[in-house]
Amino acid sequence: MTALDQIREILWPSGDADRPWSPDTLDAIAQIVKATELRPTKVVHGKLRCPDCKRNTEFKYYEDIMNYRTVRGIENGVLVIEGFYETDGSDDGENPRLCCQSCFGDFALPKAVEVDFV
Ligand SMILES: [Zn+2]
Repeated sequence: MTALDQIREILWPSGDADRPWSPDTLDAIAQIVKATELRPTKVVHGKLRCPDCKRNTEFKYYEDIMNYRTVRGIENGVLVIEGFYETDGSDDGENPRLCCQSCFGDFALPKAVEVDFV
């Protein structure tokens, strides 16, 4: 059963698309999506190639990093938060992936290739 089939079975077990979803249902969907592996980016003749659109294009490296902002407090009934944010640059981000800048699909890092941050 594919991840899509699993999601379809959880969301519409009786085929009733009008039934509202519970938080437990949405948590179950999130678990499936988290466990779904991205297809790896290919390396062809020493260059990255998108496994979807097949282009040797520019890629961006994405990772999920926690940013934080200082909360000033409540002023005249408004929660005031500083616009400037900081991040802890010493930790690795979660969910590293490459985003193809042609089709904007996300893909896993290529297999059997070392990664170096310079
Ligand atoms: Zn692509």
